Amino acid sequence: MAVLSIVVTADHNDVLTTKATRVPRVDDGVRKLMDDMVETMFSANGVGLAAPQVNVPWRVIVLRVENQIYQLANPEMVRCEGDQTGPEGCLSVPGLVGDVTRCLRVVAKGVNRHGKEIRVKGDGLLARAIQHEIDHLDGILFTSRAVEGSLREIVKEEVPDVVTAV
Ligand code: ZN
Repeated sequence: MAVLSIVVTADHNDVLTTKATRVPRVDDGVRKLMDDMVETMFSANGVGLAAPQVNVPWRVIVLRVENQIYQLANPEMVRCEGDQTGPEGCLSVPGLVGDVTRCLRVVAKGVNRHGKEIRVKGDGLLARAIQHEIDHLDGILFTSRAVEGSLREIVKEEVPDVVTAV
């Protein structure tokens, strides 16, 4: 596995604002990408990562919530219920956090590393992270969803503890 470099908004790379492409088939290349993304997410202390954040325009996301790791290709929201508003950050937007309203409970479906369709059900942080990562695949950054006036600067060291850096 390899730690990949994370694209940040200051790079002005269109990959962060472009809709990503569906993965036709989960092959060894996609599995390697998933594994490298997990390594990168751990290295950066994030709870989620989307392929465009490592400069790959494919619909692939990884998450780690409560010691569980998820690797999904072509994730789609099946259900989105209730709402939660809370602080959110992003590994591609270092130094900024903002309050974002997300669904409280979600069910998402996608294809796992073995090419099998699975469903992921979650609430709270997992639900927030899934929505944040699927947004990345559609070229949407959390800053465009932040409650007006809530975006604020934060020192990097605070990120893993007080907000969801995804
Ligand atoms: Zn993000």
